[in-house]
Amino acid sequence: MENKKRLNVAIDGPVGAGKSSVADAAAKRLGILHLDTGAMYRALGYTALQENIDVQDEAAVVALCGRIRLDVSHQADGQHTFAEGEDVTGKIRTPEVSMAASTVSRYAEVRRAMVRQQQRLAAETDMLLDGRDICTTVLPNATAKIYLTASPEVRARRRWLEMQEKGMNESYEKVLEDVIRRDEQDMNRAVEPLRQAEDAVLVDSSGLTFDETVDRILAIVEAKTHE
Ligand code: C5P
Repeated sequence: MENKKRLNVAIDGPVGAGKSSVADAAAKRLGILHLDTGAMYRALGYTALQENIDVQDEAAVVALCGRIRLDVSHQADGQHTFAEGEDVTGKIRTPEVSMAASTVSRYAEVRRAMVRQQQRLAAETDMLLDGRDICTTVLPNATAKIYLTASPEVRARRRWLEMQEKGMNESYEKVLEDVIRRDEQDMNRAVEPLRQAEDAVLVDSSGLTFDETVDRILAIVEAKTHE
């Protein structure tokens, strides 16, 4: 399934480690596409909420996952995510959708479907993928594997600032609580919990600027490409 000669970069890490924006910048500098896999779980969570499906009801969510079409397309302004042909890109970033995404991602059959689609996309073209299980499950033979993290406080602060910029009025304490709760759920689920793959390089961005973090990732990719 996976083509060894492809440039596939895998980045995993917890909520708010800056994965999406760092991954975006790194992919641009490498001249490859960036697949934000979290957006796919978000699109499923969003659709479940829209259709009043209880996200705790595994059978109902698995049935929904089998029934709806999720697509991504890469456009000039970045990745767009579609559920049943509807562009949901702007609608999947709310705290409700974040929690729903984390809940639906616990289900084995949901994960199987998402992983299959992500592997198919990564096999088609050089790509950087970010998520929770990319190094461990989606691309175990990726060219470079990175585990990007930062302390919960630093991650909550970054997320809070992002939300402020978007005019979303959450308190820092609430954002920190959500970060810790989602970490808990992502790291303790039975199926493919978030963990650092043995051969992934750890990048702790707590004391790094955005640009320093991107540089660190590019240096890792560079080193792995020439190994
Ligand atoms: O990365 P993001 O915060 O957008 O992901 C939303 C949720 O989707 C995460 O909390 C996680 O539960 C789930 N997810 C996952 N596997 C991935 C990407 C995201 O389980 N590869």
